[in-house]
Amino acid sequence: MKTTVTIKVNEETLYKIKNFYEPHLTTNHNEHAFFTAKTDYCTITAYKTKKVLFQGKEAEREAAMWASIQEDIQNKQHQSYFLESIGSDEVGTGDYFGPVVVVSAYLDDTHVKKIQSLTIDDSKKLTDHDIKKVAPHLLNLLPYSLLILRNEKYNEVMNESDMNLNKLKALLHKQAITKLIQKINKNTTIIIDQFCSIDYFKQYINDSKFTKKINFHTKAETKFASVACASIIARYIFLQEMEKLSETLKITLIKGASSKVDRQGKQLVEKYGKDILRRIAKLHFKNTEKIEKLSI
Ligand code: MG
Repeated sequence: MKTTVTIKVNEETLYKIKNFYEPHLTTNHNEHAFFTAKTDYCTITAYKTKKVLFQGKEAEREAAMWASIQEDIQNKQHQSYFLESIGSDEVGTGDYFGPVVVVSAYLDDTHVKKIQSLTIDDSKKLTDHDIKKVAPHLLNLLPYSLLILRNEKYNEVMNESDMNLNKLKALLHKQAITKLIQKINKNTTIIIDQFCSIDYFKQYINDSKFTKKINFHTKAETKFASVACASIIARYIFLQEMEKLSETLKITLIKGASSKVDRQGKQLVEKYGKDILRRIAKLHFKNTEKIEKLSI
């Protein structure tokens, strides 16, 4: 296996590469260099001549990935969307009722053809109905790992000193990703849909060996199919959990955190007592206070 590989790219790919490795950029005093990035497994030096040098134990794999993206960009297929990678996303953190679900999903070339026939791009725009149609295929097709943090446990954890929602997300993502890496047993690009600054993420995780491997991207589900798939699976599982809760409570729980949610919360408290919220809702939301103040 080669440990040094150079490829020549065009401007579009060059900026894509820079953007991709952004969390890992380091200073380079070489006047011919455009940027240098250092990950755990590879050092990438891009030159103003648009030559990109990959060095390290994963140099060959990393360079091959970008060479293929470059080829696709030239063919105007924009396949970087289907980059071989682990994508990770979470659902339910903005909903007063129901759990938090974190999913990491792995996508490689063998999955791409099958995935392409499913409408997964712009997963945020998919309706619940679409999610229910698409997600079972993804669950069948892709290696993934899944964490469901139900409300009782969620409220317990959020009560710990030094805990906040972003820290909790960071820890859950780490757990899901670690599980998935063990499952697929290989090194690959890891992308998280960004929810806080990289510095905070590092601080929350406090494990530089892990954080060095992570690529953080905002709106990652629109940029990488692996994240889109993770996001769809997470929404699917969240919907299922909400349906189960709704069935037990004999009421269709409302998603989000609006005043409609407050009124429904009030109804539930009237019917089941105050303690019900601890078991079905995220207590630290302002909704809890609003529900207490509401009178029917
Ligand atoms: Mg997200």
